[in-house]
Amino acid sequence: MRIDVFTIFPEMITDFGGHSLLGKAQDKGLLDLRAHDLRAHAHNVHHTVDDAPFGGGAGMVMMPEPIFAAVEAVQPPRPLFLMTPGGRRFDQPMAEELAATDGFSLLCGRYEGIDERVRMHLCDGEVSLGDFVLNGGEVAAFAIIEAVARLVPGVMGNAASGVDESFSSGLLEYPQYTRPATFRDWEVPAVLRSGDHGKVARWRRAQALARTLEVRPDVIEAAGGLTDADRDLLSEHGFDVGPSLP
Ligand code: SAH
Repeated sequence: MRIDVFTIFPEMITDFGGHSLLGKAQDKGLLDLRAHDLRAHAHNVHHTVDDAPFGGGAGMVMMPEPIFAAVEAVQPPRPLFLMTPGGRRFDQPMAEELAATDGFSLLCGRYEGIDERVRMHLCDGEVSLGDFVLNGGEVAAFAIIEAVARLVPGVMGNAASGVDESFSSGLLEYPQYTRPATFRDWEVPAVLRSGDHGKVARWRRAQALARTLEVRPDVIEAAGGLTDADRDLLSEHGFDVGPSLP
Protein backbone atom coordinates (compact mmCIF):
# COMPACT_ATOMS: atom_id res chain seq x y z
CA MET A 1 0.00 0.00 0.00
CA ARG A 2 1.31 3.42 -0.95
CA ILE A 3 0.16 6.55 0.92
CA ASP A 4 1.34 10.01 -0.14
CA VAL A 5 0.91 13.05 2.08
CA PHE A 6 1.23 16.68 0.94
CA THR A 7 2.08 19.06 3.78
CA ILE A 8 4.30 21.93 4.78
CA PHE A 9 5.54 19.73 7.69
CA PRO A 10 6.62 16.47 6.02
CA GLU A 11 8.84 15.52 8.98
CA MET A 12 5.75 15.26 11.20
CA ILE A 13 4.49 12.46 8.99
CA THR A 14 7.81 10.66 8.50
CA ASP A 15 8.70 10.87 12.21
CA PHE A 16 5.39 9.49 13.34
CA GLY A 17 5.38 6.83 10.66
CA GLY A 18 8.87 5.64 11.59
CA HIS A 19 7.79 4.14 14.91
CA SER A 20 6.17 0.94 16.07
CA LEU A 21 4.06 -1.18 13.72
CA LEU A 22 4.06 1.38 10.91
CA GLY A 23 7.84 1.65 11.02
CA LYS A 24 8.08 -2.14 10.80
CA ALA A 25 5.50 -2.25 8.01
CA GLN A 26 7.69 0.14 6.01
CA ASP A 27 10.81 -1.94 6.70
CA LYS A 28 8.94 -5.04 5.50
CA GLY A 29 7.78 -3.26 2.34
CA LEU A 30 4.09 -3.55 3.25
CA LEU A 31 3.65 0.20 3.51
CA ASP A 32 5.20 2.88 1.32
CA LEU A 33 4.56 6.18 3.12
CA ARG A 34 5.77 9.29 1.28
CA ALA A 35 5.56 12.83 2.64
CA HIS A 36 5.97 15.70 0.16
CA ASP A 37 6.94 19.22 1.18
CA LEU A 38 4.65 21.76 -0.46
CA ARG A 39 7.24 24.48 0.11
CA ALA A 40 9.64 22.68 -2.22
CA HIS A 41 7.16 23.53 -4.98
CA ALA A 42 6.71 27.20 -4.06
CA HIS A 43 8.69 28.93 -6.78
CA ASN A 44 9.05 32.33 -5.20
CA VAL A 45 12.06 33.71 -3.29
CA HIS A 46 10.74 33.02 0.20
CA HIS A 47 9.02 29.73 -0.62
CA THR A 48 5.74 31.14 0.59
CA VAL A 49 2.71 28.91 0.22
CA ASP A 50 0.05 31.29 1.59
CA ASP A 51 -1.42 34.68 0.88
CA ALA A 52 -4.17 36.97 2.19
CA PRO A 53 -7.77 36.03 1.35
CA PHE A 54 -9.57 37.84 -1.45
CA GLY A 55 -12.54 39.67 0.07
CA GLY A 56 -10.66 40.30 3.31
CA GLY A 57 -10.90 38.55 6.65
CA ALA A 58 -8.55 37.04 9.18
CA GLY A 59 -5.65 34.73 8.48
CA MET A 60 -3.99 33.42 5.36
CA VAL A 61 -5.05 30.99 2.66
CA MET A 62 -2.84 28.40 0.97
CA MET A 63 -2.20 29.29 -2.67
CA PRO A 64 -3.10 26.90 -5.46
CA GLU A 65 0.19 26.98 -7.45
CA PRO A 66 2.51 25.11 -5.05
CA ILE A 67 -0.16 22.49 -4.36
CA PHE A 68 -0.92 21.84 -8.03
CA ALA A 69 2.82 21.83 -8.80
CA ALA A 70 3.57 19.30 -6.05
CA VAL A 71 0.75 16.94 -7.01
CA GLU A 72 1.51 17.17 -10.73
CA ALA A 73 5.22 16.50 -10.13
CA VAL A 74 4.60 13.48 -7.91
CA GLN A 75 1.56 11.93 -9.63
CA PRO A 76 0.50 10.35 -6.32
CA PRO A 77 -1.90 7.44 -5.91
CA ARG A 78 -5.54 8.44 -6.30
CA PRO A 79 -7.95 9.21 -4.75
CA LEU A 80 -6.39 12.37 -3.37
CA PHE A 81 -8.34 13.51 -0.32
CA LEU A 82 -8.39 17.04 1.02
CA MET A 83 -8.28 17.11 4.82
CA THR A 84 -11.03 19.48 5.95
CA PRO A 85 -13.58 19.74 8.77
CA GLY A 86 -16.25 19.86 6.05
CA GLY A 87 -15.37 16.47 4.57
CA ARG A 88 -16.82 12.98 4.96
CA ARG A 89 -16.44 11.93 8.57
CA PHE A 90 -13.73 9.29 8.76
CA ASP A 91 -14.80 6.03 10.42
CA GLN A 92 -13.98 2.31 10.51
CA PRO A 93 -15.98 1.44 7.35
CA MET A 94 -13.99 4.10 5.45
CA ALA A 95 -10.75 2.69 6.91
CA GLU A 96 -11.78 -0.74 5.61
CA GLU A 97 -12.65 0.69 2.17
CA LEU A 98 -9.24 2.35 1.88
CA ALA A 99 -7.39 -0.69 3.22
CA ALA A 100 -8.77 -2.71 0.31
CA THR A 101 -7.04 -0.41 -2.23
CA ASP A 102 -3.41 -0.14 -3.39
CA GLY A 103 -3.10 3.39 -2.07
CA PHE A 104 -4.42 6.93 -1.73
CA SER A 105 -3.16 10.42 -0.94
CA LEU A 106 -3.89 13.11 1.63
CA LEU A 107 -3.50 16.88 1.35
CA CYS A 108 -3.02 18.73 4.64
CA GLY A 109 -4.06 22.35 5.00
CA ARG A 110 -2.73 24.92 7.43
CA TYR A 111 -3.70 28.54 8.26
CA GLU A 112 -7.32 29.35 7.39
CA GLY A 113 -7.45 26.63 4.77
CA ILE A 114 -6.84 26.10 1.08
CA ASP A 115 -7.81 27.96 -2.08
CA GLU A 116 -11.16 26.58 -3.27
CA ARG A 117 -9.79 25.71 -6.74
CA VAL A 118 -7.69 22.96 -5.16
CA ARG A 119 -10.82 21.32 -3.76
CA MET A 120 -12.70 21.74 -7.04
CA HIS A 121 -10.07 20.85 -9.63
CA LEU A 122 -7.34 18.78 -7.96
CA CYS A 123 -8.81 16.66 -5.16
CA ASP A 124 -11.08 13.64 -5.56
CA GLY A 125 -12.77 13.87 -2.18
CA GLU A 126 -12.72 15.45 1.25
CA VAL A 127 -12.22 13.81 4.64
CA SER A 128 -12.77 15.10 8.16
CA LEU A 129 -11.60 13.57 11.41
CA GLY A 130 -14.61 14.95 13.27
CA ASP A 131 -16.61 18.04 14.14
CA PHE A 132 -13.77 20.11 15.52
CA VAL A 133 -11.08 22.35 14.07
CA LEU A 134 -7.37 21.48 14.18
CA ASN A 135 -4.48 23.80 13.33
CA GLY A 136 -3.53 21.64 10.39
CA GLY A 137 -4.38 18.44 8.57
CA GLU A 138 -1.33 16.42 9.71
CA VAL A 139 -2.81 14.94 12.89
CA ALA A 140 -5.99 14.05 11.02
CA ALA A 141 -3.97 12.54 8.16
CA PHE A 142 -2.01 10.41 10.56
CA ALA A 143 -5.08 9.14 12.33
CA ILE A 144 -6.30 7.96 8.92
CA ILE A 145 -2.95 6.45 7.93
CA GLU A 146 -2.78 4.50 11.18
CA ALA A 147 -6.36 3.25 11.07
CA VAL A 148 -5.96 2.11 7.45
CA ALA A 149 -2.43 0.69 7.58
CA ARG A 150 -3.16 -1.58 10.55
CA LEU A 151 -5.81 -3.31 8.43
CA VAL A 152 -3.32 -4.14 5.68
CA PRO A 153 -2.52 -7.87 5.90
CA GLY A 154 0.77 -8.47 7.70
CA VAL A 155 1.00 -5.05 9.36
CA MET A 156 -0.36 -6.17 12.70
CA GLY A 157 1.56 -8.95 14.41
CA ASN A 158 -1.53 -11.09 14.87
CA ALA A 159 -3.78 -11.17 11.81
CA ALA A 160 -6.84 -12.04 13.90
CA SER A 161 -6.51 -9.05 16.21
CA GLY A 162 -8.15 -6.69 13.72
CA VAL A 163 -11.16 -8.89 13.14
CA ASP A 164 -13.27 -8.48 16.28
CA GLU A 165 -12.27 -5.01 17.29
CA SER A 166 -14.59 -2.12 18.06
CA PHE A 167 -16.83 -1.17 15.12
CA SER A 168 -15.62 -3.89 12.75
CA SER A 169 -18.33 -6.26 14.00
CA GLY A 170 -20.86 -3.42 14.38
CA LEU A 171 -20.28 -3.40 18.15
CA LEU A 172 -17.77 -1.98 20.58
CA GLU A 173 -15.22 -4.47 21.81
CA TYR A 174 -15.87 -6.73 24.81
CA PRO A 175 -13.81 -6.15 27.99
CA GLN A 176 -10.29 -7.62 27.92
CA TYR A 177 -8.33 -9.03 30.85
CA THR A 178 -4.82 -10.35 31.40
CA ARG A 179 -2.75 -11.54 34.36
CA PRO A 180 -2.96 -11.33 37.33
CA ALA A 181 -6.28 -13.11 37.84
CA THR A 182 -6.82 -11.09 40.99
CA PHE A 183 -5.65 -7.48 41.17
CA ARG A 184 -6.51 -5.46 44.31
CA ASP A 185 -9.45 -7.76 45.05
CA TRP A 186 -10.83 -7.32 41.52
CA GLU A 187 -11.20 -10.73 39.94
CA VAL A 188 -11.17 -11.62 36.28
CA PRO A 189 -14.63 -13.07 35.41
CA ALA A 190 -14.56 -16.81 36.07
CA VAL A 191 -15.95 -17.70 32.63
CA LEU A 192 -12.76 -16.40 30.96
CA ARG A 193 -10.75 -18.93 32.97
CA SER A 194 -13.16 -21.81 32.43
CA GLY A 195 -11.53 -23.04 29.23
CA ASP A 196 -15.00 -23.38 27.64
CA HIS A 197 -14.56 -21.56 24.33
CA GLY A 198 -18.26 -21.56 23.46
CA LYS A 199 -19.16 -20.04 26.80
CA VAL A 200 -16.38 -17.46 26.47
CA ALA A 201 -17.61 -16.44 23.00
CA ARG A 202 -21.20 -16.03 24.24
CA TRP A 203 -20.07 -14.05 27.28
CA ARG A 204 -17.99 -11.75 25.07
CA ARG A 205 -20.80 -11.13 22.65
CA ALA A 206 -23.20 -10.38 25.53
CA GLN A 207 -20.70 -7.93 27.06
CA ALA A 208 -20.08 -6.24 23.70
CA LEU A 209 -23.83 -5.87 23.15
CA ALA A 210 -24.40 -4.49 26.65
CA ARG A 211 -21.50 -2.05 26.45
CA THR A 212 -22.56 -0.79 23.03
CA LEU A 213 -26.18 -0.39 24.20
CA GLU A 214 -25.00 1.60 27.17
CA VAL A 215 -22.57 4.02 25.56
CA ARG A 216 -23.38 3.94 21.81
CA PRO A 217 -27.01 2.87 21.26
CA ASP A 218 -26.82 4.71 17.91
CA VAL A 219 -24.41 2.03 16.66
CA ILE A 220 -26.94 -0.73 17.45
CA GLU A 221 -29.79 1.25 15.92
CA ALA A 222 -27.77 1.85 12.75
CA ALA A 223 -27.26 -1.92 12.48
CA GLY A 224 -31.04 -2.48 12.59
CA GLY A 225 -31.54 -2.93 16.33
CA LEU A 226 -31.28 -5.98 18.56
CA THR A 227 -32.32 -9.40 17.27
CA ASP A 228 -34.32 -11.84 19.40
CA ALA A 229 -31.16 -13.89 19.83
CA ASP A 230 -29.31 -10.79 21.10
CA ARG A 231 -32.11 -10.16 23.65
CA ASP A 232 -31.96 -13.76 24.84
CA LEU A 233 -28.19 -13.64 25.14
CA LEU A 234 -28.36 -10.40 27.15
CA SER A 235 -30.96 -11.63 29.63
CA GLU A 236 -29.13 -14.95 29.94
CA HIS A 237 -26.10 -12.96 31.10
CA GLY A 238 -28.05 -10.91 33.63
CA PHE A 239 -28.60 -7.75 31.59
CA ASP A 240 -31.95 -6.00 31.76
CA VAL A 241 -33.62 -6.08 28.33
CA GLY A 242 -36.41 -3.56 28.69
CA PRO A 243 -38.91 -2.59 25.98
CA SER A 244 -37.17 0.78 25.58
CA LEU A 245 -34.12 -0.79 23.94
CA PRO A 246 -33.74 -0.43 20.17
N1 SAH B 1 -10.92 27.76 8.36
C1 SAH B 1 -11.17 26.37 8.27
C2 SAH B 1 -10.28 25.57 9.24
C3 SAH B 1 -8.84 25.63 8.88
S1 SAH B 1 -7.87 24.68 9.95
C4 SAH B 1 -12.62 26.10 8.61
O1 SAH B 1 -13.22 26.88 9.32
O2 SAH B 1 -13.15 25.06 8.15
C5 SAH B 1 -6.45 24.36 8.93
C6 SAH B 1 -6.38 23.01 8.28
O3 SAH B 1 -6.45 22.00 9.26
C7 SAH B 1 -7.49 22.69 7.30
O4 SAH B 1 -7.20 23.20 6.03
C8 SAH B 1 -7.50 21.17 7.31
O5 SAH B 1 -6.56 20.64 6.39
C9 SAH B 1 -7.04 20.84 8.72
N2 SAH B 1 -8.16 20.45 9.60
C10 SAH B 1 -8.69 21.16 10.62
N3 SAH B 1 -9.67 20.51 11.22
C11 SAH B 1 -9.79 19.32 10.60
C12 SAH B 1 -10.64 18.18 10.77
N4 SAH B 1 -11.60 18.16 11.69
N5 SAH B 1 -10.47 17.14 9.94
C13 SAH B 1 -9.52 17.16 8.98
N6 SAH B 1 -8.69 18.20 8.77
C14 SAH B 1 -8.81 19.27 9.56
